[in-house]
Amino acid sequence: MVDRLVNCPRCGTKVVWSTDNLWRPFCSERCKTTDLGAWASESYRIPVVEMDDMDEQALPSDGPALN
Ligand SMILES: [Zn+2]
Repeated sequence: MVDRLVNCPRCGTKVVWSTDNLWRPFCSERCKTTDLGAWASESYRIPVVEMDDMDEQALPSDGPALN
């Protein structure tokens, strides 16, 4: 049998695609968690930035009016 090799999407290392490789298609747990973490933080960042924008627009008009 010939092992099927894939490139780790995170670092490009050639990885043997087998059921023994728990992290496929990544080369290691670290690459897998790093990739998922980057994806998750990127999707989290979008709503946070939008909320910050709304706060910044609301604060200047609220501040002077209250004083
Ligand atoms: Zn990797």
